[in-house]
Amino acid sequence: MTVNRRQFLKMAATGVGASLCTTQAQALQRETLKVSPDAVGMLYDSTLCIGCKACMVACKNANGMPVESTDVNPMWDTPLETSGETLNVIKLYKNGTGEHKDQLDDGFAFMKRHCLHCVDPSCVSVCPVSAMTKDAVTGIVEHHKDRCIGCRYCVYSCPFGIPKYEYDKAFGQIQKCQFCAHLQAKGEIPACCDVCPTGATLFGRVDDLKKESERRLQAKPGDRYVFPRGKFGSDRPPHEAAIAQYQEHVYGLKELGGTQIMYMSAIPFDKLGLPVNVPDYSYPSQAEGIQHTLYKWMLAPAILLGGLSYVVHRNTQKKDDEKNASERRES
Ligand code: SF4
Ligand code: SF4
Ligand code: SF4
Repeated sequence: MTVNRRQFLKMAATGVGASLCTTQAQALQRETLKVSPDAVGMLYDSTLCIGCKACMVACKNANGMPVESTDVNPMWDTPLETSGETLNVIKLYKNGTGEHKDQLDDGFAFMKRHCLHCVDPSCVSVCPVSAMTKDAVTGIVEHHKDRCIGCRYCVYSCPFGIPKYEYDKAFGQIQKCQFCAHLQAKGEIPACCDVCPTGATLFGRVDDLKKESERRLQAKPGDRYVFPRGKFGSDRPPHEAAIAQYQEHVYGLKELGGTQIMYMSAIPFDKLGLPVNVPDYSYPSQAEGIQHTLYKWMLAPAILLGGLSYVVHRNTQKKDDEKNASERRES
C-alpha cells in the first residue's frame, strides 16, 4: 500500500489523538511511595516539650552552624525560623493570657520545626540533578552540596517550607536538616534526640515509633506514663509524666503520603503551623505522572516528524528515479 503525505498526516493525527486519550487517564499518576521497613524517624511529642531549646543548641553544634540573632533580640541566638544558619527551631503557640500548657484558649504549646523526611518527598522528585536524595533503607532525605546547581526547585516544591537558600552569600547553598546522617553513620543518634531531657524528641525505627504513638493514644489522660528518651528501645533512663489529652491523630502517618518525622500534640496541628486538609497521596505521585505523560506525548510528534521526513525523502527519491529513467530512455 502506498501512502501519500496527506494520508500520512491524517493517520498520524488520528494516532496522536488516540494515544493522548488512552494514556491521559493512566499516566497522570503513580503510586505514592511506601516507607521502607528499616526507615528511621523521630516522634516529637509537643506535650512533653518544655521549650528548653537544648535541641537547637545541639543541632547547631553537631552541624557547625553559626549563631543567628534578630533585630528584635540582637544580643541572643534567637532564630525565629529555619534558615541557612538554623536547621531546627522550637516555635511557640500562644493564645490569650498564655497561662496553660497545651491548652487552646489562654494556653501555649511548643513546636519543633525542621525537615520531616517525607516518605515520598517533593524536593527529591523535582531536583533535576539528584542533589536531593532519599536513602532506600533509612529513608533519610539528604542534600548533596557538591551536586547542587542552585536552581532552588526544592525550596519552591517543599509543602512544609523547609529547604532554605543562603541568599546573603555570594555562592549560597541550600540548607536543611539531614537527620544528622553523619552521626548516624557512626552509630550515634541525631543530636537533638540525644540531648532532649524529656523524650519530647525521640529517635527510632518508624515502625517502633508508630507503635509507641498508638500506646500513648490508648493510655488514659492523666495516668502516669513512662516515656522513653533518646533512642527508642535504648537503656537510657526514661522520663515519667502524666499522659496528656492528645489530638486523636498522629501527624505524619498519612499526610501527603506520610513523613518519617511524626508529631503528637494536645492542640490542633494547624495551630502549630502544620498544613492540614492535605491529601493522603504525595504530590510527586501526581506531578511525576504528568511529567512522564508529557514525555510520552512528545514521542508522538517525534514519530510524526520522523514519518514526514521519510515520506518526503521517499517522494524525492521516486521523482529522481523517474527522471533518471526518462533520461536513459531518451538517450
Ligand atoms: S530539647 Fe526537648 S524539651 Fe527541650 S526544646 Fe527541644 S524538644 Fe523541647
Ligand atoms: S519536608 Fe520538604 S525538604 Fe524535607 S523531605 Fe519533605 S519535601 Fe523534602
Ligand atoms: S536531626 Fe540533626 S540536623 Fe536535624 S534537627 Fe535534629 S540535630 Fe538538627
